Amino acid sequence: MKILANDGISKSGIEVLAQAGFEVLTTTVAQEQLANYINKHNIDVLLVRSATSVRKELIDSCPSLKIIGRGGVGMDNIDVEYARSKDIHVINTPEASSQSVAELVFAHLFGGVRFLYDSNRNMPLDGDSQFKSLKKNYAKGVELRGKTLGIIGFGRIGRDVAKIALGIGMKVIASDKFVGKADIKVEFYNGQFINVEILTEPTDEILKKADFITLHVPLQSEYVISEKEFSLMKDGVGIINAARGGVIDEVALVNAMESGKVAFAGLDTFEQEPTPAIQVLMNGQMSLTPHIGAATNEAQDRIGTELAVQIISILKV
Ligand code: NAD
Repeated sequence: MKILANDGISKSGIEVLAQAGFEVLTTTVAQEQLANYINKHNIDVLLVRSATSVRKELIDSCPSLKIIGRGGVGMDNIDVEYARSKDIHVINTPEASSQSVAELVFAHLFGGVRFLYDSNRNMPLDGDSQFKSLKKNYAKGVELRGKTLGIIGFGRIGRDVAKIALGIGMKVIASDKFVGKADIKVEFYNGQFINVEILTEPTDEILKKADFITLHVPLQSEYVISEKEFSLMKDGVGIINAARGGVIDEVALVNAMESGKVAFAGLDTFEQEPTPAIQVLMNGQMSLTPHIGAATNEAQDRIGTELAVQIISILKV
């Protein structure tokens, strides 16, 4: 049986699949050539991350497909229900990347409160006086400890974010459409742990109370954060979006930054990918990463092996 991992797969995943007798092709085929390639090579399993789209037309033109696998969580690039209606299994790896995304949130947060997004761009090549004046610009950082982190979307990633936040002494508040409360187990490397119960609150309360806000909701038909939501936030708030472009209205975000409402933003996901809007790219108060929340060695290993195990169990080889 043949697998095309069009957006790549970890070595560990390939090894598990190869041992089970699968042939794994890791060529990256352009979207418009994909149907031809799948038919020519009689591909049984198509694996993608976020780059390749698997829409109805592709599904209709590839009768050999038995499984569509998404390395990661969000399946908005796949017509899931349609594929299932054609008896194609659609699988993903919801747990594998949560910790990596949560840590990236803190990379943006720690960088945000000490202006790293800006100082990295402005360090002088020479000149003592420039160095001194920059030092003044970046002298008013704040600590995260003791501040309130508002988490919108208290699922897998939101809770992993909460664990880190509690571990560094932040106060955590959260909202969720469906989760009423969650027990967060903060574990330490010496085997000790503490349990913290968090009751969720309405999103408007989170917006009003939080010093920093991070979003962990799936893509939805409307913005979760737009002009009205920004107006409720504290002045000088920091905001992170490592969920999906489209959950924050980027025009409203840029306006909120220009008015001083938002002090900094950390974005890993954008309304337009792979080419974000110019006003986002050019904004000096934003810390930007190119959708790499799940792109750690550990997460990619877990994603690859979890996909492999699921494929083997479905196709029972
Ligand atoms: P999850 O399903 O475990 O949690 C999402 C939570 O959001 C759910 O509990 C749901 O009830 C809640 N929710 C939905 N709409 C809401 C709303 N309007 N207000 C409040 N809560 C709402 O998902 P997860 O695994 O935690 O992933 C969260 C997001 O992170 C997804 O959008 C996913 O695509 C994204 N993600 C990004 C990366 C990256 O590379 N940056 C990697 C993995 C996942």
